[in-house]
Amino acid sequence: MSAEFSARAWDLAYRRVVGHAFRRVPFYRDQWVAAGRALDEPEPTPSAALAGQLHRLCPFARPFDPAGEPSLWIGEARILREALTLVGAPRRTPVLEVRPAVLDRRTLGPGGPRYGVLLGPDAKVVNEARRRALNAEALELATTAGRAVVVGDRQALDEVLPRLDGVDVTTVERVSLAQAAAGENGTLVHDPHLGYFAGRASCGRIHLLWRRFHARRAGQVTTVSALRRRPVLVDVIPDDPPSGHTPGTCPEHGTPIISPL
Ligand SMILES: [Zn+2]
Repeated sequence: MSAEFSARAWDLAYRRVVGHAFRRVPFYRDQWVAAGRALDEPEPTPSAALAGQLHRLCPFARPFDPAGEPSLWIGEARILREALTLVGAPRRTPVLEVRPAVLDRRTLGPGGPRYGVLLGPDAKVVNEARRRALNAEALELATTAGRAVVVGDRQALDEVLPRLDGVDVTTVERVSLAQAAAGENGTLVHDPHLGYFAGRASCGRIHLLWRRFHARRAGQVTTVSALRRRPVLVDVIPDDPPSGHTPGTCPEHGTPIISPL
């Protein structure tokens, strides 16, 4: 983790994104319209309310183009890579991520480790045989290397691990924010719209990926904002009971955390 963290610069980055959102992005601009005045801060939005809003979460000047770009909810490779670094996963080991759909991605960002998708039990495929065929390539990546980092929720990991017999596997469980407090160190915190935004580090605390995300207390809830991302996501309440966490600073690392209340 980094000693470069500056709370002031971090808050300024958040203010910049908020200013951009209100000026340029329909979803937030409409909050002003609904309020009948210029708001200083965005209304906290539950993550579930973002479903189906992709078009309104992109700037007027650069609208979402379904024909020209993939779904923006897929998540950037480099964010998963940073999340894995945060929780201390091995860096050069191939990464297999359990997902609901295949993804044309061979490495985890430029210069990153090799990457493959394992389709989980809930994946939309015509049948089990097809799912196994699509998974074979990723499994081969692991067996060839003799090692793998496997990322997924508990149920998916339990299902997939027996097929990695003989491979040195580091499992990284993907959990919601509510589950993270009770989880083990090394778990990644994920939200369907924010993507990976935090992880339980070696100190046992839930560390935010602070170069990518900002967290603050907004009234009775803790909200998370993406600092560099398309779509524009500000003051999102992660997919969880909203009042259960509060932002803070890790006494050990000096960087932002989200703690259970
Ligand atoms: Zn810490």
